[in-house]
Amino acid sequence: MMRIALLGATGSIGASTLDVVQRHAERFRISALSAHRNVDALVALCRQWRPEIAVIADPALEGELAAGLRSAGLDTRATAGAQGLIEAAEGSHADCVVAAIVGSAGLESTLAAARAGKRLLLANKESVVMAGSLLRAALDQGGGLLLPLDSEHNAVFQCLPRERRDLADCGVRRILLTASGGPFRGRSRSELAKVTPDMACAHPNWRMGRKISVDSATLMNKGLEVIEAHFLFDAAAAAIDVVVHPQSIVHSMVEYEDGSVLAQLGNPDMRTAIAYALAWPQRIDAGVAALDLVRIARLGFEGVDRETFRCLDLAYQALASGGTAPTTLNAANEEAVAAFLEDRLPFLAIEAVIETCLERLPSASVTDLPGLLDSDLTARREAQRIIASLAE
Ligand code: NAD
Ligand code: MG
Repeated sequence: MMRIALLGATGSIGASTLDVVQRHAERFRISALSAHRNVDALVALCRQWRPEIAVIADPALEGELAAGLRSAGLDTRATAGAQGLIEAAEGSHADCVVAAIVGSAGLESTLAAARAGKRLLLANKESVVMAGSLLRAALDQGGGLLLPLDSEHNAVFQCLPRERRDLADCGVRRILLTASGGPFRGRSRSELAKVTPDMACAHPNWRMGRKISVDSATLMNKGLEVIEAHFLFDAAAAAIDVVVHPQSIVHSMVEYEDGSVLAQLGNPDMRTAIAYALAWPQRIDAGVAALDLVRIARLGFEGVDRETFRCLDLAYQALASGGTAPTTLNAANEEAVAAFLEDRLPFLAIEAVIETCLERLPSASVTDLPGLLDSDLTARREAQRIIASLAE
């Protein structure tokens, strides 16, 4: 029986994870659940899953959570805040941690799970972008296993040899990440100037949280994924390419020296990646319908329109700069996306905020957590200043 701490249980990845777990009650048990501020939703999940620990990330809501659990007659322990998330990630109640919090808020619990040697199912790509080297060091220290949930990285993982060594030693020439192109594929910059948050969140193939949906619309999601691939697979930036594939059936590919290209295909449903990572090295039912290639009929591929969608190049640029540049990129993006979602910033200004932040904040070679958190905070303040100046 694998005991699972699910951090970010009330989100899209959280719901997909619980759906897979529910299909395999004999294999998996939920031992910890977390949510940001929605106490009612968290208590409802605790009624269903009866975990040992429930964490509400907003510390002001700890009392409300404890009262909710008591009145539901549960003996689940209520904890809160960053410390509660860390405890849930590293405690002996769990063998496996699903890191499904969105944004930098997921960093410390992800690192804690890695350090504690848990089986780490990673959806929270922002933590890799912010602190990729630290995460690798934490994984080395803990000796646990990281299994990527991001569909592209899960696909790459599936296409790499089981006995993983250096990519060059495995004969890998390139990692090819596929991108759907998002809801605005084919649009011009003048059309993009007017798009609203709801338009940006209407992804053609995937139902996801609002932050990653906006990232998909700007193509920053693919930029973050290039950096994620660099750290997860120890791949040079030059060996990571992006190709637009509007159907989202090929989830990504690995190209080998002999010309072979291995791809992982499936319906666009995160439960496939989640089930793969939960059961690895075995395979289990994910509740996902069989792929009907005859009905799909055609798989299309095209280059990325980098003139219109500039965030992808900004991410490559940050990766080339190294040091704290990816941390700055991620922080500026989180602030700009939040401002866009609150109607404080036009869509095209997201990339402008990130670009200006990268220009103004030179990359430093910081490798410890306090230093990285400091860079993150500096970048957020700078982004806020730029956002305010654009609103004037
Ligand atoms: P979501 O917005 O649906 O859910 C986010 C979860 O994080 C919720 O449980 C929320 O309560 C929690 N949360 C939000 N802010 C928090 C905070 N400050 N502190 C603690 N908890 C907080 O997001 P999602 O779509 O499920 O995405 C989660 C992560 O997975 C993101 O990093 C995203 O990039 C990644 N991801 C998602 C998908 C997808 O299909 N949804 C695919 C690939 C990767
Ligand atoms: Mg992805």
